[in-house]
Amino acid sequence: MSGRKHRFQDSPAVDAAAVALPRWKQRAPRERAEVLRATFELMLAHREELAHLMTLEMGKSVADSRAEVTYAAEFFRWFSEEAVRVDGQLRTSPSGTNRILTFRKPVGVALLLTPWNFPAAMAARKIAPALAAGCTVVLKPAEDTPLTALALGHLLTEAGAPAGVVNIVTTDRPGELVDAALADGRVRALSFTGSTGVGRHLLTQTAAQVINSSMELGGNGPFIVLDNADLDEAVAGAMVAKMRNGGQACTAANRFLVAEAVVEPFTRKLTDAMRALRMGAGTDAATQIGPMINARAVTGIADKVNRSVAAGARIALGGTAPDGPGFFYPATVLTDVPRDSAVATKEIFGPVAPIITVTDDDDAIQVANSSDFGLTAYIYGSLARGLRIAERLEVGMVGLNRGLVSDPAAPFGGFKQSGLGREGGYEGIDEYLETTYVATSW
Ligand code: NAD
Repeated sequence: MSGRKHRFQDSPAVDAAAVALPRWKQRAPRERAEVLRATFELMLAHREELAHLMTLEMGKSVADSRAEVTYAAEFFRWFSEEAVRVDGQLRTSPSGTNRILTFRKPVGVALLLTPWNFPAAMAARKIAPALAAGCTVVLKPAEDTPLTALALGHLLTEAGAPAGVVNIVTTDRPGELVDAALADGRVRALSFTGSTGVGRHLLTQTAAQVINSSMELGGNGPFIVLDNADLDEAVAGAMVAKMRNGGQACTAANRFLVAEAVVEPFTRKLTDAMRALRMGAGTDAATQIGPMINARAVTGIADKVNRSVAAGARIALGGTAPDGPGFFYPATVLTDVPRDSAVATKEIFGPVAPIITVTDDDDAIQVANSSDFGLTAYIYGSLARGLRIAERLEVGMVGLNRGLVSDPAAPFGGFKQSGLGREGGYEGIDEYLETTYVATSW
């Protein structure tokens, strides 16, 4: 070791992806689909090892890790089915003088950047549609979770992905690596999942080469409880929407907007359910809340809670990080939360449930839409009222009497500063396709 740092002026991973591209995109869609299908099966066959690795790497409970491996594998199955359905169109021009023929083609080399909170699922949600479309990829996982990505890379190779089709690069200097790759000129798509601040910065970078950009960014999910909600169902849904992954999810319920008539019983039932959770090492089978990702995360959560309490919120449960070792933050419930306080306006990314009382449906909608984010909302109450509210919310996804929205078959994405584009569903593959139109006369 010379002690000199490697410089990211060149991008060997982009070289490899660019070299592999012409053959990969010419492979029959069915052959590409079969690589994806085999990856799905291998992930399920190795679910326990992958789940254990993920828990050791980022701390979530093994139960959460197992669920994530299954969810991640489903992206490979879904896009193995979509790979053979990329279609074009034949239209007649309104004048009747010519025909409009469209082809859809892979956009080219795609750079994929993923966060640490769902290390397997966020990589799968990008790799699977990219490969299905005929793109080759460079994946750069988060600094805190490189190992899950590398394990997934091994399975893709075992499933038959040819050399150069999937390239995984780890680094603790993401800015330099990504700057070099985006400046290279051969990267034609960027798919990013992470914080809004980094996403905004990357959009300025992709502007220079006019790179197709998909952004899955932060959230500030409202969880609306109507006065006609089944409160036991609402609490069960809240526990999933708030506590999955210890609250470290972009789709997490960030603020509870509860109708005045039910705020007392809802708060009591939610507090009881939160109190019953067992905090501990993710590897302990009884653990329901593992540690947060790192010390900075704990400090950030504590800071938002403390500022909100200083502004008038009251602590019904938790609210103080235990002394070490480990990066733990306990299940916390805050009541009488001011609408402009830190926990209500910023993404908490931890196991904290702030409760805000709302007067009626209009008030709930107004508070929900007052955020710069618009990723996920949850509504508990009658179907008709819930649907009317869902129509008026500025969000990409709504859980209506459900605490979980993520589904490989559904379009995942947000409004406003929560992002651009959609992943999963029929839409997810579009991010990796370009259209050529041929004007024809015959
Ligand atoms: P982050 O923005 O810090 O990092 C995300 C990725 O970007 C990592 O791979 C990181 O290495 C890379 N990165 C960081 N700085 C960079 C730079 N200057 N240039 C290029 N790349 C850079 O986010 P995080 O802390 O890993 O994840 C948490 C955030 O992700 C939260 O805001 C959460 O809401 C969001 N998230 C969104 C979704 C979604 O689908 N909308 C899903 C999961 C997480």
